[in-house]
Amino acid sequence: MADMFTPEVRSKIMGSIRSISKLEQIVRKALWERGLRYRKNVKGMFGTPDIAIKKYKVVIFLDSCFWHYCPKHCALPKTNDSYWQIKLYRNVKRDYIVNSHYYEKGWNLMRIWEHQVKEEFDSVIDSIIDFVEKAKKYK
Ligand SMILES: [Zn+2]
Repeated sequence: MADMFTPEVRSKIMGSIRSISKLEQIVRKALWERGLRYRKNVKGMFGTPDIAIKKYKVVIFLDSCFWHYCPKHCALPKTNDSYWQIKLYRNVKRDYIVNSHYYEKGWNLMRIWEHQVKEEFDSVIDSIIDFVEKAKKYK
């Protein structure tokens, strides 16, 4: 990671990466236990979905509140704030591009915020299961 970051910012970045990958694991494990079979971090697919089920044209993204600029929680680091603004807006723009890529191809795309996983875990898992069930029906 570039040296331009202050220790405070660096630790915030590292914390947010750890936090989201931990959440990804927990979500995947819960889905697996509910009988859902999927592929994870699919490199060959546009935007590298966190969870993908090609058979039903399902892609699911778990979005870090920091990196995807959650309207509720994303607080820009105080240092270099214009750098962060540009960087995070670029991420948001990329999310839109990824969304339209899949929508145009008739895929079922779901985005889940990190805070939803933290605050309402069971209903997030339920809603993913529902989402996949619907996708199965209409494929
Ligand atoms: Zn959030």
